[in-house]
Amino acid sequence: MPGCSIPLPAVVILPGPPGAGKGTQARMPEKDFGMIQLSAGALLRSAAAAGTPAGLAATAVMAAGDLVSDDIVLAVLKDRMAQPDVRTGIIPDGFPRTDGQAAALDTELSRVGHKVTAAIRLDVDDAAMVDRVSGRYTRATCGGGCHDTVKQPAAAGVCDKCGGTDFAHRADDTAETLRARLQAYHAQTAPLIAGYGRRGVLERIDAMGPIAGILRTLPTIVARIAA
Ligand code: ADP
Repeated sequence: MPGCSIPLPAVVILPGPPGAGKGTQARMPEKDFGMIQLSAGALLRSAAAAGTPAGLAATAVMAAGDLVSDDIVLAVLKDRMAQPDVRTGIIPDGFPRTDGQAAALDTELSRVGHKVTAAIRLDVDDAAMVDRVSGRYTRATCGGGCHDTVKQPAAAGVCDKCGGTDFAHRADDTAETLRARLQAYHAQTAPLIAGYGRRGVLERIDAMGPIAGILRTLPTIVARIAA
């Protein structure tokens, strides 16, 4: 990995509420530092699309905006973490979201002599989330995304990443589901993030500003904390 200044593997988690931009942000250290983005939501959606037992069990839960059980999330993540490319460091996004998941992550990492390098919390206002979430579109094939207002593609309706045009709204990006997801975030995820503060590894990014500025901030923090 030319130019990489990170002692490997670094483990940087990106907690934040739905619509905070975790998926978009995690792609930048992946590109800059060769770290691997592990999106719990994307892995669950792939498992659902593939019709695996875990994916099928998760489908209705995700549609309701509730948290999928720790057992299923951990099974899906462990499969991905067993692949050799994660040796370059990982950026889980949307994981951990419960105390059980945080404990399981610590256990898995301690087995190989590592721990969470940093938790970088993306801070946003709940009120802004409805617009963020209801305006976003993704492409299932390449994972590219855009937004009605904050991230328009260079050419209308054409993916900047692959040139495709089949954008779709995520099935769970509705106002009603968003309320449930925000509630789950505040009840279960926010308290566990505070735990990373007590460990002295919590950083924060104001994720309300323009995407380009936030994208510059994240690699700067990653380079600093992992140096
Ligand atoms: P968002 O952060 O915008 O909610 P994600 O793609 O991260 O989007 O998650 C979508 C859905 O997938 C969640 O609402 C939840 O149902 C499920 N999910 C994702 N990650 C987890 C997790 N770590 N634990 C439990 N459920 C999860």
